[in-house]
Amino acid sequence: MSKIQNVRGTYDLYGDNKRKTKKVIQTASNVVERYGFEEIETPIFEFTEVFARNLGDTSDIVTKEMYTFEDKGGESLTLRPEGTAGVVRAFVSNGLLSSVPVKFYYAGPMFRYERPQKGRQRQFTQFGVEMLGVETPEADIDMISMAYSFLKELGLDGDITVEINSLGDKESRDAYRAKLISYLKEHINELSTESQERLEKNPLRVLDSKDERDQKALIGAPLYQDSLNESSKSFFQAVLKGLDLLGIPYKVNNRLVRGLDYYCHTVFELTTSQLGAQGTVLAGGRYDGLVEEMGGGKVSGIGWACGVERLSMLLKEDIKRKRPIAVIEVGDDTKDEALKIAYDLRNEGCYVEHFYSGNFKKRIMKANKANACQAVIIGSEELQKGVVTLKNLDSGNQKEVLISKLKEEIKNEF
Ligand code: ATP
Ligand code: MG
Repeated sequence: MSKIQNVRGTYDLYGDNKRKTKKVIQTASNVVERYGFEEIETPIFEFTEVFARNLGDTSDIVTKEMYTFEDKGGESLTLRPEGTAGVVRAFVSNGLLSSVPVKFYYAGPMFRYERPQKGRQRQFTQFGVEMLGVETPEADIDMISMAYSFLKELGLDGDITVEINSLGDKESRDAYRAKLISYLKEHINELSTESQERLEKNPLRVLDSKDERDQKALIGAPLYQDSLNESSKSFFQAVLKGLDLLGIPYKVNNRLVRGLDYYCHTVFELTTSQLGAQGTVLAGGRYDGLVEEMGGGKVSGIGWACGVERLSMLLKEDIKRKRPIAVIEVGDDTKDEALKIAYDLRNEGCYVEHFYSGNFKKRIMKANKANACQAVIIGSEELQKGVVTLKNLDSGNQKEVLISKLKEEIKNEF
């Protein structure tokens, strides 16, 4: 039989890698809960329409990257490529409109058919947050400061740049779009074929292109800031002022647009220089039209999502397992008692390794290999007296302790 392999672009996570992704999600959850966010879990697949309608017909995700299939009932379903559409769908289908502001976070797998490379997978994990029903710039400030605090708590702030831009309201966006189209038309021969096609349908996305030809052609392109109307400008200024107040370093990047159709006003990305072209670790923005598009009324929204694997690749230090206590029987005649002591200690909350085979010497070796801090050694003579030997495996110190006092003695490190 030929060897069965995992699908290209998917990975098995275990050991240190798994501990790192878990730490990323745990840290993020802790930070966002301090801001009042609650966890939501939405299905991993939705009706295709949920994504197709809301991410925009011309986005890369919808045109190229979705895992879409027909189920046995003939419904077209799609494995979620991102989290926002599902959360907004849940907000609408559960009638949460009257509960705004609503603050949700989620963590879980996303699926995109992309060319696999370092930091770019076909199944990857996102942690994301969505705040629904707050129109004021304070929401934008909190969302960005929250993202920054999270990366700071992971120890990554030294290598992270916060890039920010404003796409303005609809009026500003339409004005910019018109200016950009006429600029791009003058430079159409310098653009990549893909961007030539995007030009009419979705010119903003040309700004997002990683193709060198496009980047060169864009050098003299009109700047977004010149198309913002007064109210959009003052919204953006308020956001920047808030970040200044909190001491959060940022860089205004006038070329920053996000890949999806629903963004307006503030868009932002947190990037690192360490992952090459996959340097964006967290990205988000305001999406004031999306809820209405889903049939949920005029509710503004803002959110961000981060790539959990990308972030975990930046964590330099291995995350060690917690050190266990080894329970070791000296011979077969104390086997039952060892089993029982291990069970009791575990019930009391201790982290215990009890080995399934080997003589005493082998078991001590296994205890050291498991990086145990202490060993509970159970010999038949001691057992008669109701005691066991507790040994500190680092110092080698040991003492006899009453079985009834074992838990206390373990706690009093010696
Ligand atoms: P990129 O420009 O790298 O394709 P994107 O704009 O498609 O990113 P978003 O949809 O904003 O990414 O997703 C948010 C974050 O999720 C990204 O910043 C990244 O960290 C992570 N991410 C996106 N796609 C992948 C992928 N295929 N594999 C691993 N992580 C990913
Ligand atoms: Mg992408």
